[in-house]
Amino acid sequence: MLEKVQGFNGDRVIEEFEALTKEAERVQRETLQKILEENGAAEYLQNLGLGGKTDPDSFKACVPLVTHKDLEPYIQRIADGEALPILTGKPIKSISLSSGTTQGKPKLVPFNEELEQSTMEIFRTSFAFRNRAHPIGNGKALQFIYSSKQFKTKGGLLATTATTNVYLSQTFKNTMKDIHSQCCSPEEVIFSLDYNQSLYCHLLCGLICSEEVQFVFSTFAHSIVHAFRTFEQVWEDLCCDIREGVLSSRITIPSIRSAVSRLLRPNPQLADTIYNKCVNLSSWYGVIPELWPNAKYVYGIMTGSMEPYLSKLRHYAANLPLMSADYGSSEGWIGANIDPEEPPESATFTVLPNIGYFEFIPLKEIGHEQKVENCASIIGHREPEPIGLTEVNDGEEYEVIITTFAGLYRYRLGDVVKIAGFHNSTPKLQFVHRRNLILTVNIDKNTEKDLQLAVEEASKLLAVEKVEVLDFTSHVDMSTDPGHYVIFWELSSNAREEVLSNCCDCLDRAFIDPGYVGSRKVRAIGPLELRIVNRGTFHKILEHYVALGAAMSQFKTPRCVGLSNCSVLQILNSSVLKSIFSNAFD
Ligand code: AMP
Repeated sequence: MLEKVQGFNGDRVIEEFEALTKEAERVQRETLQKILEENGAAEYLQNLGLGGKTDPDSFKACVPLVTHKDLEPYIQRIADGEALPILTGKPIKSISLSSGTTQGKPKLVPFNEELEQSTMEIFRTSFAFRNRAHPIGNGKALQFIYSSKQFKTKGGLLATTATTNVYLSQTFKNTMKDIHSQCCSPEEVIFSLDYNQSLYCHLLCGLICSEEVQFVFSTFAHSIVHAFRTFEQVWEDLCCDIREGVLSSRITIPSIRSAVSRLLRPNPQLADTIYNKCVNLSSWYGVIPELWPNAKYVYGIMTGSMEPYLSKLRHYAANLPLMSADYGSSEGWIGANIDPEEPPESATFTVLPNIGYFEFIPLKEIGHEQKVENCASIIGHREPEPIGLTEVNDGEEYEVIITTFAGLYRYRLGDVVKIAGFHNSTPKLQFVHRRNLILTVNIDKNTEKDLQLAVEEASKLLAVEKVEVLDFTSHVDMSTDPGHYVIFWELSSNAREEVLSNCCDCLDRAFIDPGYVGSRKVRAIGPLELRIVNRGTFHKILEHYVALGAAMSQFKTPRCVGLSNCSVLQILNSSVLKSIFSNAFD
């Protein structure tokens, strides 16, 4: 039976969602009309000759497909404080910084009230379905969420990451209260700018209210894994703080010290319980249910570039269900996970047809030639016309185009999705990969997903040795002739030379793209190189991005580091412990 959480009626949310998705085509048409009417006065739309027309055909005929680069000058003018309606009818009051892990620097995108509303709608929708499957009781959530730097643009607009823009809003706080997802930690912890101190306090506050915690959350799963890797290091200090009722001296920010100290009082009994549970765990297996016995699930985005963290997450969560969260971006939300029981590997996102206007460029990615074509198309070659939300075909792959209430029109998000059936008449999307993350030397093309599969395959050889790949990335080294792929691995402990050499061969063989295999055979691509980096290297990369203004909450390890991302490349190259070349094609 569906639990009625106060102020939130899950049945009604589901009913409304069902009604919207049954008439996805009509809802899309009306949504486009609304977006164009609300923003008709914007200079960008005025210049495109729509002449007040709001139907999909006129929209497609007049409005070009764009990338972030095309809109950058408009967004910059908004950030600089031009008061005219540039991209939206109503003025934009804040700017979001996307995580920027793909390009190496954060991108600016408009944020407004409508975006905030659609975020809440996604949260409420997926919560309604999640709560039907695993009802939570009165309580709190152990959330590893972090705000990021906030600053004013030249024109006085607030600029920060999208997650921070959301955390700052009153609507968010009310929604979290309604769906019993309030964070255990006080606001000072979320809004501190030192995420190491925030993380310690999130863990501490979570332990203090361990009986109340109903679920464990972070926006992207990486933050949960990072949190528990840190827990393995600091658990004794946490026990000590709880025993004495005195906050560790490592917390130096006065506002966090006083907010967290208010929650702490000496509790030797709780400290003993935590201590005994921790010492009895084997390699931290099941630490989450052990310490938070009333937690019903672990929740966060676990798809796409988060998949490599799943096995570690499963290790910490033991038999607690992992539920993959929704699909969206700083630019706008797309779909909610309404099948929370599905394992994260097969999670789908059902598009909400009323939060934006969605189009899809068919990729029909089957063979290598098509793949090369797809990659070429991003740099200007002809490609198929985008089709509407309800016109997509089951099983096929598409690039996502969004039109939002926040001033983005026919915007290429850069993500590739696969249609995994329909819910009523709206499609369910499976995230495939970012379109522009590509390893290529000549005719070879390997995506983020190909890299992930190769690493998965090769790391099986390490598992036998009880060594884990903590994180990984890649680079194309064209300084050698011929160029070659470089894979960087950070390992949990040392592995034997012979094993690493086998891993390196396995990686080289695991890229089965015919362009790669053919080029390797004729030596048009050199042997793959595996570079093992020091422990802590990927942490340094994370810190580098956080220093640039990225949010810990939105952090995604870049899976391919180009020459233009020289700071990250430098961090990697200065941390190499050993380098191994493949013998796979000798
Ligand atoms: P950002 O706006 O910087 O947080 O990044 C947004 C990007 O994160 C999207 O364009 C996707 O590439 C990725 N992303 C967001 N949600 C998901 C999801 N549920 N599964 C996989 N990737 C996702």
